[in-house]
Amino acid sequence: MRQVAIYGKGGIGKSTTTQNLTAGLTELGKKVMVVGCDPKADSTRLLLNGLAQKTVLDTLREEGEIDDLSYIVKEGFGGTRCVESGGPEPGVGCAGRGIITSIGMLEDLGAYTDELDYVFYDVLGDVVCGGFAMPIREGKAQEIYIVASGEMMALYAANNICKGIQKYAVKGGVRLGGIICNSRKVDRERDLLEAFAKELGSQLIYFVPRDNEVQRAEIQKKTVIDHNPEHPQAQEYRNLAQAIEDNQMFVIPKPMTQERLEEILTEYGLFDDLKETASEENKAIRIAG
Ligand code: ADP
Ligand code: MG
Repeated sequence: MRQVAIYGKGGIGKSTTTQNLTAGLTELGKKVMVVGCDPKADSTRLLLNGLAQKTVLDTLREEGEIDDLSYIVKEGFGGTRCVESGGPEPGVGCAGRGIITSIGMLEDLGAYTDELDYVFYDVLGDVVCGGFAMPIREGKAQEIYIVASGEMMALYAANNICKGIQKYAVKGGVRLGGIICNSRKVDRERDLLEAFAKELGSQLIYFVPRDNEVQRAEIQKKTVIDHNPEHPQAQEYRNLAQAIEDNQMFVIPKPMTQERLEEILTEYGLFDDLKETASEENKAIRIAG
């Protein structure tokens, strides 16, 4: 069983990419469980065709205790198992608590069966801290992919995430499997992402094009493979699934300094005035880490 955590800045496309590539993996005959680790609880809706999945925390609040997996694991596209951790009420308690509770509960109730080929944790956030580090602490997930794009803030976030990963990788066994580019159609985006990944000692594992078919499928509450299997974008997700299946490159990432990151961004044509704004915002993010 490969346990995989997907990290990346909010809105970058983690949940979309995870579910679409999961659909690709099921076509390869793989048995996959997806664990949503975002209080938004939208990590499995495309696999469940919009079926409202009650989160682990909500179920706990209502039932008091959970003694059966059927309360929290729902079957989705291609026999996937879908779980949403959920979160505390906004402003109350640690947003990462849902993940800790969910993983504990899935373990206690025996959700990690031998027939599973993959478990994906779809984790929010720009930094890896507190509950959001849970999937990569204590050897739960052994491999990580970061979703990024050629936009500055996505790369700043990815670099910060690598700082968090580095800490857990040195202590435990977790490794970075690569960067997934979810394209924002930025100029020279592929080259930039390749240079960025290389600087980290990692690789650009796949470049996912931006395509409106993703939104058309989303409106139907489906992955692209489910909604329109003949569409070229469906093939892109199959290729990504295959690239992950075949991946051999797992490293402890070497996060870069702010200066080096900005140097690379400048080299690939990002404007200096924009760069300064991003740098200021990023200081705030760094403090949070
Ligand atoms: P995250 O989980 O990182 O917060 P989401 O997966 O919810 O981000 O994606 C945010 C939005 O971006 C979604 O509404 C989705 O439709 C859109 N999106 C993601 N990837 C693509 C893509 N490759 N092409 C077009 N739209 C995309
Ligand atoms: Mg998400």
